Amino acid sequence: MAEALFARLDKADFPPFEPGSVWLVGAGPGGPGLLTLLALHALAQADVIIHDALVSTDILTLAPDRVERIHAGKRGGKPSPKQADITIRLIELARAGKRVLRLKGGDPFMFGRGGEEAGALAEAHIPFRIVPGISAGLGGLAYAGLPVTHRETNHAVIFVTGHDETGAVPGTVNWPAVAQAAPVIVLYMAVRHLPTIAAQLLAAGRRADEAVTIVSNLAHPDQSVLETSLGEAGALVDVPTPAIIVIGPVARYRGALHWYVAEVRRHVFG
Ligand code: SAH
Repeated sequence: MAEALFARLDKADFPPFEPGSVWLVGAGPGGPGLLTLLALHALAQADVIIHDALVSTDILTLAPDRVERIHAGKRGGKPSPKQADITIRLIELARAGKRVLRLKGGDPFMFGRGGEEAGALAEAHIPFRIVPGISAGLGGLAYAGLPVTHRETNHAVIFVTGHDETGAVPGTVNWPAVAQAAPVIVLYMAVRHLPTIAAQLLAAGRRADEAVTIVSNLAHPDQSVLETSLGEAGALVDVPTPAIIVIGPVARYRGALHWYVAEVRRHVFG
């Protein structure tokens, strides 16, 4: 099916994957349906795939059997390859003449370290291409019936990571400024530090009754959504990860807009 479709497309949009080059490709937040055509094109041509833990196995099985798959997962708390080692591996494989597909969950440039990896490739004079993907917190949230903007509620949205490279709440994030920047705050990698983050936002004047929607395993068959408030979010336990946390009034549209069949859990205290 895909081959017939590609035959009708302009070849210029689908350049050959040259040996000795690296493509940094976003795999989107879920299964194969959320890949771009360029990502599919890359999967069909690659010699080797170096992928994150967040890339679904359904996507990895799309590549031909001959393709070598290397897991370079980084998941909170678990031992994982160092970023520098991954970058060195990319460069070595490219220098060995491979077509290297670096496949990342979501979008490579959204909290995905794509900038660091592409920078290292540029420095090493390795030719590369970057293929954007649907990010979990931008685009992907449609799977939870959450528009990140809505004219009735917000003219701005801010994306923040709750986790820096040491695992701590990022010291460089100015939480009072985040609290004031936009009615809607989308947090990546923030489950562990949600109590600290919620306290900072409350201290900066965000309301305790503000809606907090936590979407775990978004766009996967085991997606689950937990609805709570900023005042209560600090007491949450056992939130499945990966999860995107959305703070703000767009939660009100979920009732009408959610269409993806998945489990909804309402957080009940007491
Ligand atoms: N580049 C990725 C983000 C990588 S950081 C993107 O654009 O989506 C990893 C974080 O992304 C996770 O901690 C979680 O907050 C979020 N994330 C990625 N995929 C997700 C998914 N399928 N469901 C929920 N959250 C996800």
